[in-house]
Amino acid sequence: MWNEIRINLSSARGYFLEFFVFDVIIIFFSFLIFNSTFNFFISIIFIFILSFTILIFLGKHRIAELNEIKTIIYNIRKNIYTSPDEIKLSNNLFMLQDEIKMMFDKVRSDITYLKRLERIRTEFLANVSHELRTPIFAIQGYVETLLDGAINDSKVNMRFLEKANQHTINLSNLLNDLIDISMIESGEMRMSFRYFNINEYISKIIQDFKIMADEKNIELVFHPARESLQLFGDKDKLKQVMTNLLTNAIKYTEKGKVEILVEEDNNYGIIIIRDTGIGIPEEDLNRIFERFFRVDKARSRSVGGTGLGLAIVKHIIEAHGSNVEVKSKLNEGSEFSFRLRK
Ligand code: ADP
Repeated sequence: MWNEIRINLSSARGYFLEFFVFDVIIIFFSFLIFNSTFNFFISIIFIFILSFTILIFLGKHRIAELNEIKTIIYNIRKNIYTSPDEIKLSNNLFMLQDEIKMMFDKVRSDITYLKRLERIRTEFLANVSHELRTPIFAIQGYVETLLDGAINDSKVNMRFLEKANQHTINLSNLLNDLIDISMIESGEMRMSFRYFNINEYISKIIQDFKIMADEKNIELVFHPARESLQLFGDKDKLKQVMTNLLTNAIKYTEKGKVEILVEEDNNYGIIIIRDTGIGIPEEDLNRIFERFFRVDKARSRSVGGTGLGLAIVKHIIEAHGSNVEVKSKLNEGSEFSFRLRK
């Protein structure tokens, strides 16, 4: 019992000063009111006993509250709660209850976020290893076959060398895209925005794609905007966007044409890349911007795709405060577009 009293009193330590001041005031008034010394002393003893008892009860109450909070924290630590509604404190602690519920929600969403990051990281690593393995094994296979004697077989030697060469190109494309995506995702991408003439800019870029389109007998058509239209963006990064979108448009088109259009509304210029290619199945449209997602893996690889091009495009356009839109019909063609500020 004494031990309990001691614990309760020690828990009420925070109120000692208030009670001391209260007792002094009461004693002072007792001194004024009571003219007999006996009554005065009785009142002092009474006040002390009263203060002492109240302090014990306060301490007890405080211990009960702290225990309640301790139990809640313990349960959170042990993952006993599945929903914040399971967290219940007595009425006088209701303000704390709301705070604890919010903290519980925050911790839960932080953990979910970290788990998601960890999953993405593991998946990314697995994908990278897989993507690296494919061309390396292929190169190894061709070189070994050549060393085993095929080098002297004039019917196959050049073909094997060309194939090995194509895989080294794929490997180098993949490494370049990986460097780009890791720079972008680690926040190291420095943007440099300025106004530039969009017609001149696109005319220059498509020069590089003429040969690629000609080789496939595909028409490359540019529909410029009004001559003086200036758009706001990072020219270097946008070159990569245009390159990736145009490469895809030509890569995934067997006949017909690839068009580049610049349209405008009140505040934006809209850049559209449209092709008459193989198109994208509707169910895959919202996945094509994911890293390493390809509608047809074999086809993408055979045309030198890395599966990272559209993920890079998405990041760069988002860094411009915009987003990429896509429309596509299987076997009819695709259209990618994005807006830039005027
Ligand atoms: P890849 O290097 O494989 O082309 P991307 O990230 O550039 O990777 O594109 C992802 C996938 O989206 C491609 O593998 C392809 O299946 C599809 N795709 C992208 N652009 C087009 C297009 N213009 N026409 C048809 N399919 C496309």
